[in-house]
Amino acid sequence: MKSKYDNEMELEFLSKSNNEAFARITVAAFAAQLDPTIEELADIKTAVSEAVTNCIIHGYENTEGLIKIKATLLKNEIEIEISDSGKGIEDIELARKPLYTTKGNLERSGMGFTIMESFMDEVTINSVVDIGTKVTMKKRIKKQENAEENEEKNALIN
Ligand code: ATP
Ligand code: MG
Repeated sequence: MKSKYDNEMELEFLSKSNNEAFARITVAAFAAQLDPTIEELADIKTAVSEAVTNCIIHGYENTEGLIKIKATLLKNEIEIEISDSGKGIEDIELARKPLYTTKGNLERSGMGFTIMESFMDEVTINSVVDIGTKVTMKKRIKKQENAEENEEKNALIN
């Protein structure tokens, strides 16, 4: 079957906090094919990190569950879907608001979705209570031709 994408990958891993770094580094390594700047790559890593952390602490509330990531490349754009089969979000519009958190007592600041929105070009949230949550993010990578920066960047992916 021929995909409509130029490239795609899927990852599935347990909701353990150690896997947050694994997920962010793996998506960055995949995104590197689009030749992003160091800054663009850092934006992607931060957004993935926020979404995966949300699956771990809110979706599964630190119990064990599966987190899935699907990433696709099409032309100069990366689309990243991050999903859990956890508790879901009751009011998505409210959850997106800066400083809104249901875990204020655990020193969460309620800025995760705001950070994802500011670092990515598009953020869509789908969620059903007791079924799970899927966050879909898109980022367009601008063209750049700079060999020196590419070398530096490859060192930073890890
Ligand atoms: P911070 O990200 O700053 O540590 P936070 O995680 O509470 O704090 P957001 O990431 O913006 O803030 O998320 C806002 C709220 O949306 C969370 O407090 C939680 O109630 C809900 N939420 C986010 N992701 C999920 C998820 N995967 N499953 C269930 N609820 C979620
Ligand atoms: Mg968060």
